[in-house]
Amino acid sequence: MAIDSEQTPLKKSHFLRQIVERDLAGKGDRPAVNKLVTRFPPEPNGYLHVGHAKSICLNFGLATEFGGDCHLRFDDTNPEKESEEFIKSICEDVRWLGFHWAGDIRYASSYFDELYDFALHLIDTGKAYVCDLSAEQARAHRGSLTEPGKNSPYRDRGVEENRALFEKMTDGHFDEGACVLRAKIDMAAPNINLRDPIIYRIRKVEHHQTGDQWCVYPTYDFTHGQSDAIEGISHSICTLEFEDHRPLYNWFLENFPLTQGGSTAPVQHEFSRLNLNYTVTSKRKLKQLVDNGAVSGWDDPRMPTIAGMRRRGFAPESLRSFCEAIGVTRVNGVVDFSMLEHAVREYHNENAPRAMVVINPVKVVLSNYPNDKTETLKAINHPQKPEMGERDVTFSKEIYIDAEDFRESANKKFKRLVIGKKVRLRNGYVIFAESCSKDSDGNVIEIQATYDADTLGTDPSDGVKPKGVIQWVDANNAIDLTVNNYDRLFTEPNPESFQSDGEDSDGFIGCINTDSLKVVKAVGEASLGDAKAEQVFQFEREGYFVADRYDHSQQAPVFNKTIGLRDTWAKVENN
Ligand code: ATP
Ligand code: MG
Repeated sequence: MAIDSEQTPLKKSHFLRQIVERDLAGKGDRPAVNKLVTRFPPEPNGYLHVGHAKSICLNFGLATEFGGDCHLRFDDTNPEKESEEFIKSICEDVRWLGFHWAGDIRYASSYFDELYDFALHLIDTGKAYVCDLSAEQARAHRGSLTEPGKNSPYRDRGVEENRALFEKMTDGHFDEGACVLRAKIDMAAPNINLRDPIIYRIRKVEHHQTGDQWCVYPTYDFTHGQSDAIEGISHSICTLEFEDHRPLYNWFLENFPLTQGGSTAPVQHEFSRLNLNYTVTSKRKLKQLVDNGAVSGWDDPRMPTIAGMRRRGFAPESLRSFCEAIGVTRVNGVVDFSMLEHAVREYHNENAPRAMVVINPVKVVLSNYPNDKTETLKAINHPQKPEMGERDVTFSKEIYIDAEDFRESANKKFKRLVIGKKVRLRNGYVIFAESCSKDSDGNVIEIQATYDADTLGTDPSDGVKPKGVIQWVDANNAIDLTVNNYDRLFTEPNPESFQSDGEDSDGFIGCINTDSLKVVKAVGEASLGDAKAEQVFQFEREGYFVADRYDHSQQAPVFNKTIGLRDTWAKVENN
């Protein structure tokens, strides 16, 4: 089993499922595949984001479905940008999403010896050479989409000379950038990736896994396919931008002694990446948000990182069902953020226990309720799920309701508390507003009301039913909460292509919603004092809220607003 939950969403067929089925049945254009083996290959240079969730669900999901394995492999060929912190967070994110990788965590860097031997093999067979062109000169030789490239003057170096130079590169004899090892393929190839690509470069930096063992590192393209082959990957699934690299992926495998002949070689398949509106999905850009302080860190609840979404209160089940719902195709498009929000709401509506919280409290004093009395009422935890049980809520002479739920006078559309009218308290009595007091600025600071003692669970004795139901909290037994209200992080639907007026090269920084976090103080029913970090509740009539993973404690409760009960953005956009 590679998945924890039994709540796997309904499976829709898609082209990759069909390819896997076909290959396992031996009906494809390759020898029959005995066992599906996929991999999720992140580079540990940042936290994973919602796009990676799609790739994780796809790779691990297919392995689960077809009784295969999925490996977690770090493609760690750029030591400068990578770190242990990112490795740790990525492992945690994959597990949190509910998946288990087969065997140990793998690293492309553990294949550096094999890759090095392969590079020597290419040199020995006249298929690789050391090139001394500077980066700029190499660019000039590369040609363009319409013009072929020009051969490097170093292309015809002999095997002996190439061997000796590559060994010197490896021994640290040359400075970074002095030379590179290139595959000798075809400078006139229409596909630029085949124009003698770089396979090794000098980088005098320590590597998080291999320490100071190497000062030459293989390129991503040279590493990826061979790592797939070494691990026995059957289907190497990646995003469409690698389609043009596939001929190179195959060229290496055709020359790699392990897969020469091709019968057991992995096959690359591409699918379209996930793009979400109001979101950036690029580790590099997310890093900029962290570095310039627009958010509190990679796991800020506004971030589209898996760690951020977790801290925001999104359930792993929601992310999995979202990834299933968006499907897998080869057509690039933009998914509406509200689809993700829908999946989040759907899960919590089913599963989150209800609680009462008042975000803008105003006190209501019930003049006909005994001064020192407190009674304990029962509240059900979920309206459709009696098995989720009930809890106690106390009631006494002074309660809080939300200032928004009161008007001195209002028309019929306002179905909450109005002077001279009734409203039902959720899980409680019907109350009747008589008057209110205000401060010198005209703000209501107290409402005077009465309660109808005969209305617990039944309609009022005079037969006049109240129109609305509102949440409330017993003032004598309320707990103080800090609530973080979040809004979208960007004001533009397509932040990646946003152009600001300034000089800014990365335009998306110009459309950050600077008002995306509002911290408010609220009061909640006493039972919330038992909430544990990461527990999600529906605060009645307000939305879903999660006890913050790090900042919450029972002494000082902190809740993050996960999402409202309805899609308020849809309303705004349709206006
Ligand atoms: P980024 O630009 O955010 O760094 P990346 O593709 O460079 O993304 P990797 O760590 O190399 O990040 O990605 C690991 C895997 O996740 C790859 O197979 C990649 O194709 C896939 N992936 C990355 N972004 C997306 C996305 N938006 N949608 C689907 N899959 C994605
Ligand atoms: Mg990458």
